[in-house]
Amino acid sequence: APKEPPYPWSLEKHYKISKKILGTGSFGVVKECTDKRTGINYALKIINKRDIKGKEQMLTTELDVLKKVNHPHIVTLHDLFETNKAVYIITDLASGGELFYQLLLKGSYTEKDAANLVQQILKGVEYLHDHEIVHRDLKPENLLFSDKSENSNLMITDFGLSKILRNDNDILMTACGTPGYVAPEVLRQTGHGKPVDIWSVGVIMYTLLCGYTPFWGEDQQSLFDSILKGVYHFEDEYWSNISDYAQDLIDKMLAYDADKRITAKEALKHPWFHMAHTVDNFDL
Ligand code: ADP
Ligand code: MG
Repeated sequence: APKEPPYPWSLEKHYKISKKILGTGSFGVVKECTDKRTGINYALKIINKRDIKGKEQMLTTELDVLKKVNHPHIVTLHDLFETNKAVYIITDLASGGELFYQLLLKGSYTEKDAANLVQQILKGVEYLHDHEIVHRDLKPENLLFSDKSENSNLMITDFGLSKILRNDNDILMTACGTPGYVAPEVLRQTGHGKPVDIWSVGVIMYTLLCGYTPFWGEDQQSLFDSILKGVYHFEDEYWSNISDYAQDLIDKMLAYDADKRITAKEALKHPWFHMAHTVDNFDL
């Protein structure tokens, strides 16, 4: 592995950096660190500038977004260091790991547990959308549990691909995001805004409840074709015991026409969340 540039002096003065690697992203590793003054643990994302040549704008975007957000369901920026070789981003530590990993372990979630998770994701998305931020890469790998406890908070991370909308009519034209969770209008390159996040939450909700994704293909092209058709099913074998409320909310989030798709605010009022008796242990 290529040698990492040395840590900036100011970083090492305030933080003890653990050897423990929490995860690896597209631009570098994420390590654990401890604030020497408070003893509180954080995540340290190291981005080597050599690896992001031409993508500096993406990084600037990520930092601008992180600086502005403060919400229980969004990983927030705590501190920032920069040298000419690398950028060091210190954020809330989400020690419970990725929802992706928990989903692999569990296979699928009960409606009650899924409703609890989807509600938290939607609250985070509602907050982002209220601040004119579209995440654009929502998927189980970018949803982290704050701790290992049973009622741990779920937090949205990884704003590397998100953009700050200048105004409501600003349409984002860049094709990006991750296959499987991206909305059809992203693939059609017809422009996309907030509704792309709701589509992704719809795919996440579907996947949490049954353990497999609604759109599927042998290769990337057939996956794209499947999303572009926008046809998915609630197969009896897996869905017969799942409520009509859940299926109704998924249908509203996976509305093919982005203009007709439910918003985060509307989705949070959906009866599924009441029916699934999830309001007992929630914040906000
Ligand atoms: P990228 O933008 O390159 O995908 P991410 O921000 O998603 O990078 O980080 C990569 C991985 O590192 C995550 O999927 C997660 O496993 C881990 N990770 C990132 N941020 C944190 C955090 N705040 N706490 C714990 N683990 C984290
Ligand atoms: Mg990521």
